[in-house]
Amino acid sequence: MNGLTNNTTTPNPHFILIPLMAQGHMIPMVDMACLLAAGGAVVSFITTPVNAARIRPFISRIQTSSLAIRFVELRFPSAEAGLPLGCENLDLLPDSKFNKPFVEALPLLGNQLELQLGKQIPIPDCIISDTKHAWAGSIARKLLILILSSTDPRRIEMAKAQVERWVDSPTWEKLRDECYAAEEAADGIVINTFEELEPWCVEMYRKATGKKVWPIGPLSLYNREIESTAIRGNEVPAMEAEKLQRWLDEREKRSVVFISFGSLARNPISQLTEIGCGLKAAGARFIWVVKEAEVKSGTEAEKWMEEFEDRSAKDKKGIVIRGWAPQMVVLSHPAVGGFMTHCGWNSILEAICAGVPMATWPHFADQFLNERLVVDVLGIGVAVGAVVPVKPADEERKEAVVGREKVEKAVVRLMDEGQEGEERRRRASEFGEKARNAMEEGGSSCQNLKGVIKYVSDRKNKISG
Ligand code: UDP
Repeated sequence: MNGLTNNTTTPNPHFILIPLMAQGHMIPMVDMACLLAAGGAVVSFITTPVNAARIRPFISRIQTSSLAIRFVELRFPSAEAGLPLGCENLDLLPDSKFNKPFVEALPLLGNQLELQLGKQIPIPDCIISDTKHAWAGSIARKLLILILSSTDPRRIEMAKAQVERWVDSPTWEKLRDECYAAEEAADGIVINTFEELEPWCVEMYRKATGKKVWPIGPLSLYNREIESTAIRGNEVPAMEAEKLQRWLDEREKRSVVFISFGSLARNPISQLTEIGCGLKAAGARFIWVVKEAEVKSGTEAEKWMEEFEDRSAKDKKGIVIRGWAPQMVVLSHPAVGGFMTHCGWNSILEAICAGVPMATWPHFADQFLNERLVVDVLGIGVAVGAVVPVKPADEERKEAVVGREKVEKAVVRLMDEGQEGEERRRRASEFGEKARNAMEEGGSSCQNLKGVIKYVSDRKNKISG
């Protein structure tokens, strides 16, 4: 964006947004940037060359709109941190041994940002940073500006092994403590959820933190047209998107199950075969997203997958997408009646917005908690039966593999047209409506977003006035 000047001369509040460089964090923060800018704010969005390249069409769309968003590309300190060149996003790390250097690179980004503040980037009125960027708080303190933390909500209590996060291991204790301290020091917290989805959690979180807590989601609902949902997160080749669309258009309403495990989780060949055989046994039509890293060329996995794809295409049963899928486009197609998900928070919200019930298959981090919310609290999901957590790029672990019978059973229940399935569908659709209402003019999230902008504006005016 051209014409951004120092915050002292810009009447509108200027926000710097710093996402964690991971798809599940970047994508909602881009939506947040759009929503803030649509609400009258000026936004500088921090990114890096590789990450920016992945969403270039989206950036171009924004640049030709009237939204005051500037994408600031900082050099990712791969070399300093000992990372292979180009590893600028968690989903690009070839091995979990690079997790630590990746996280250690993040504060170095902070150093670069600090050097540019007041020069190429005007001093902001507020920084909204992902909770993992503990260093962002100290920049804000030095400049005496507001810092808001962007986080997922805390939810229900459950067994320790399933809620243990990577930051809880001894390797990460320092980072974890820094993140908690930064969250504690933040002036407020913006959350990608909506009040009507989990009102008791939002209330408890407000009480527990004693801070301003603004649920402003589901952020994905900023994207209403297919043009923007199709290019979220990563560009999908137009031909692929059209082929997908045509295939879905030819299917009956709610007859297709969509299977995708987000941007980070990776399934070994032993798990892929169980999924494939389970789907076949369930007899359902499907779209299944498989990552390039799961079916590397020349491997046993690739051979098996090619045969499976051919058979499924011949039987007109399903299609396999290799790589990145336009998830929001698929979920909102009327032919899709169920979503088998790893329970990443964005995926859950996107399913809720589309009114699609879920078969829950958590892998790691907060996903087991999210499963409980979906299945036990909201009543819009069926648990596949995963019990052992598996980390994003873990070595194959036999005890974690979920058998084909479980996959089959979950798909059959999910797509069931009897009373149980209908009730789940009714509830899912009800939450979808509540989600859309929350983001409409006058809805709770819309009001909260205005609240954030006003809070920052009032403080800006007080200081300058
Ligand atoms: N996503 C997508 N296509 C894919 C994989 C993921 O569009 O093939 C998007 C998905 O819609 C969601 C995000 O990437 O917005 C994944 O975030 P989530 O919190 O669900 O999971 P994570 O990737 O963080 O585990």
